[in-house]
Amino acid sequence: MKKSRCDLFSSLFLKSLFFKSLLLVLNLILIVGLFALINLRSPAFSETNLGVTYSGETNLASLDIEIQNSSNFFAEANKDLVTKRLTDKELDHQYITRKQSLPALKAHLLPSTLREWQDTNNSGDYFSEIKPTPVGYLVWSQFPVKIYITTLNKLPQKQAQTWVETVSQVVNEWQNYLPLQIVYKADIADIIIERKAPPLQFDRKRKISRARSAQTTYEFYTKNNTLYHRFTILLSPSQTGKYLLAATRHEIGHALGIWGHSPVKSDALYFSQVRNPPPISPRDVNTLKRIYKQPTSLGWSLP
Ligand SMILES: [Zn+2]
Repeated sequence: MKKSRCDLFSSLFLKSLFFKSLLLVLNLILIVGLFALINLRSPAFSETNLGVTYSGETNLASLDIEIQNSSNFFAEANKDLVTKRLTDKELDHQYITRKQSLPALKAHLLPSTLREWQDTNNSGDYFSEIKPTPVGYLVWSQFPVKIYITTLNKLPQKQAQTWVETVSQVVNEWQNYLPLQIVYKADIADIIIERKAPPLQFDRKRKISRARSAQTTYEFYTKNNTLYHRFTILLSPSQTGKYLLAATRHEIGHALGIWGHSPVKSDALYFSQVRNPPPISPRDVNTLKRIYKQPTSLGWSLP
């Protein structure tokens, strides 16, 4: 049967309409895909947003030190302090639900190491820079605090050994102020220290992702109806020698409860890396001692 011109026209018209719609759908898919990709590439941005809206019991937060850029110290410090990371995955895995109420805030007994600490020079402290978390101050109440050190990836044995030795050396430094113990099983550790690059951080001002030298993260869990916390410290493999020492000293300071930064260069918890990293200062210890006198929900039974 012969097709009339009119039929032919309408079939051509339909065909072109079909292809146009197909093109439109493909374009839409492309746009949605691009959006998803952009979101994936800037996790810090979306996480920060989540952190702001989620005002209940925060189960995870992180602090980090900046290395590469030591200019504009104060801006860097503020950014470091407000960095709170909460992803959907972490929210799913949270140990504390919003419905569950927390143990009442109470101070623990001061550990004897800190009770005996006296700063004869009255060097002062930077306690005012320490922010309490939704569970109060991040103090340990069960001693010794157990620390697990791991290089994770395949590293020549000698290098791995040097790395573990450097980190252990810093554990020994802090040991003068709080009882610590190096353990060889991750599942019983309070603090896990890993030789691993921290995830890139998205710098909103400069619109770039930046590498970081270290990241310290905490989370909460309950055991025997008691609220506890644990820390994970990531130390970038790019850190060696005195910089590894300094980064470890600084991050362990955070994990022992100094959840904030010193504005003074000669303190281990100064917020930026310096050319000649200082040892743990009397001001660091004075701050630690004041923190351990503060109330917390950690280490107490849930109601
Ligand atoms: Zn820090």
